[in-house]
Amino acid sequence: MGILHIAVATPLRKRFDYLPATGMLEHACVGMRVLIPWQNKKIVGVILAIDSHSDFPLEKLKQAIKLLDDTPVLTPELISLAKWACDYYQHPIGDVVFQMLPIVLRKDLTLPDTQDYRWFINPDVTPTDMGRAKKQAALYQHLQQLEKGVSKQYLIDAGFSTAIINALAQKHYIQRKTIRQHYTHQTKQAGLTLNQEQSDALQQVTKALGEFQAFILDGVTGSGKTEVYLQCIAKVLQQQQQVLVLVPEIGLTPQTLTRFSQRFDTRIVVMHSNLTDKQRYLNWRAAKNGDARLVIGTRSAIFAPFEHLGLIIIDESHDASFKQQDSFRYSARDLAMVRAKRLNIPILMGSATPAFETLANVQRNKYHHLRLRQRAGHAKAPSYELIDIRRQALYAGLAPKVIDAIKQHIAAKAQVLLFLNRRGFAPTLMCHECGWLAECKHCDARMTLHLSPRHLHCHHCDRARNVPQQCPKCQGDNVIPLGLGTERIEHHLESLFPGTGICRIDRDTTRRKGALNELLETIHSGQQQLLLGTQMIAKGHHFPKVTLVVVINADSGFFSADFRSGERMAQLLIQVAGRAGRAEHPGHVMIQTRNPEHPSLQLLLSGGYLGFAKEELQLRQSAALPPFAFQALLRADSHKPDVAEHFLRQLKNLDSEDKVHVLGPIPAPMSKRAGRHRAQLLLQSTNRKKLHDHLLQVVKKIDGIKKEYSIRWSVDVDPIDTY
Ligand code: ADP
Ligand code: ZN
Ligand code: ZN
Repeated sequence: MGILHIAVATPLRKRFDYLPATGMLEHACVGMRVLIPWQNKKIVGVILAIDSHSDFPLEKLKQAIKLLDDTPVLTPELISLAKWACDYYQHPIGDVVFQMLPIVLRKDLTLPDTQDYRWFINPDVTPTDMGRAKKQAALYQHLQQLEKGVSKQYLIDAGFSTAIINALAQKHYIQRKTIRQHYTHQTKQAGLTLNQEQSDALQQVTKALGEFQAFILDGVTGSGKTEVYLQCIAKVLQQQQQVLVLVPEIGLTPQTLTRFSQRFDTRIVVMHSNLTDKQRYLNWRAAKNGDARLVIGTRSAIFAPFEHLGLIIIDESHDASFKQQDSFRYSARDLAMVRAKRLNIPILMGSATPAFETLANVQRNKYHHLRLRQRAGHAKAPSYELIDIRRQALYAGLAPKVIDAIKQHIAAKAQVLLFLNRRGFAPTLMCHECGWLAECKHCDARMTLHLSPRHLHCHHCDRARNVPQQCPKCQGDNVIPLGLGTERIEHHLESLFPGTGICRIDRDTTRRKGALNELLETIHSGQQQLLLGTQMIAKGHHFPKVTLVVVINADSGFFSADFRSGERMAQLLIQVAGRAGRAEHPGHVMIQTRNPEHPSLQLLLSGGYLGFAKEELQLRQSAALPPFAFQALLRADSHKPDVAEHFLRQLKNLDSEDKVHVLGPIPAPMSKRAGRHRAQLLLQSTNRKKLHDHLLQVVKKIDGIKKEYSIRWSVDVDPIDTY
């Protein structure tokens, strides 16, 4: 008697038990998909376990309809990772499992097939029991004559059914082999001669192949990290193994792909959300059957299946995009660590500004710190200058000294990068008579003014509204834009530097598919000398002609209430600065601030990122904040006021609170968003296990309490912001 324990794509926090259909148990394996009756439909489930026990009376169990796969779509490794993630993040197992699958596998669809495998007889097994199965014997004889193998379609056309093929395959009389395009998996373009630090890094990582070790390759942009990745990858490919490279953004994949495919004669596939479902499935399959040796992808590629993974690389590992911020709130960086540990392979993270979590693990001797202090080649590190903008007449948000500097760099035919982390024309609209501000009716936030097209837009709920001609409150005519956004700076730059091409990169100018790449190309062609952008421009892109970087306003970040704001601001400043001074041009960075003597800024400039991090980490430790404590955040919201807080209040004072601090409930920092009132409860402990034990109690309690229908809630383990 076997019971199938099945994961189903529902938000319910449990698995579902089914009886196997007749004959199903012989073929069923954990990780295979199975079609099951569900209410009045038939849906796809994934087998999590097969055993003889069910918590339900057997006569109540329904029977599964049929198996949908002949090999598991999720390997035992991935099933076990799913279970781990489900416990760790307190997220429903069904949702975890289905997020791991390409969309075409989530339904009972005919799978796209490129017929890149063929059937052969298995020379190692002599058929013994084919006596009465004439068709099977015929198929076997047929294949014996075809040394080069044939596609499944060929066999079906020749009159052999899938059932016959599978029957022989089950007995291992015949086997399927992927027809691989012939690759040597060697480097086809020689690597550069590494400098001492690079070659030390390479040696340490390659020495660790075949065992779990975590490395952080710490070096500014242009220090030669990617070259180290490439040479590590070469070693793994030589050992006939696969490599997973995680990058923070889709925009970085084409760039990385080009560089990697110039180097290696091997199949490389990408995984990100801009692929069609079919392409995504085919790439997924190529990773699974070992055809693709190199997989480059964004966050969700951490769930890619592999035949023989040998190394995980995470580029720009500090980047917030590795944490999923809704629904299943996993950290791809942490899951990568779990995978590497279980597979006994090394993991190599790279960053100019490692996350404090990562640095704390270096301090605890858990990760190896590999430093690249020089810039590779002949490039020099940028110089920094703080520009005090108090009591200064600014134009386009720029101090006169900065404007002069920009003119000089433009005259020298170089490029200048201006950074401002606000898109739109102005952060909001204000009435000069009565002080009215354009607030969003649905959020606890102001609406941003955009000029092309002209409208007010809420960046939190995405609602748009017409720009009022008169003040809605006092009917005055003096309604003016307040503050600066990238769109507004662009306007001013046009008149300040007439005839100089300007390229603006933010969410608004890159919305169209392919737009970002077009913009990047015009930058590289040198047509535009002024580059203006939000943090999109600070991420990984290489702008070798930039010699001056201007940070228009460094003040917003350091003064926010979130304990991570300093870390984030420091990362952003260093990352933006890193765009300058590549290749042979030394770079200069001008940082405009109204707080030039602010200790954080001073420390960052004098001590560099690591000096800054060291002091900040000490502060975190004395305040028992992450990474020296662990957090889980329960968020709740409702369109009715107070409901969320009332709901969270019931989750306090549980028995398991020993050594766990429960803070709240309090209104979320943005207490209303998209018409919903939001509250949160923060759980914190210096003991990871106690935190998770308590969280489990909380989630159990939630299942048991009567909930207002309007309530929505979620759990965020290791939240990276409380917003
Ligand atoms: P990062 O990934 O840290 O930004 P890259 O690996 O892209 O750095 O290297 C920056 C530039 O320096 C690239 O143009 C690269 O070809 C070059 N480079 C890297 N390592 C070396 C080296 N050992 N010798 C000469 N040039 C190098
Ligand atoms: Zn007014
Ligand atoms: Zn809004």
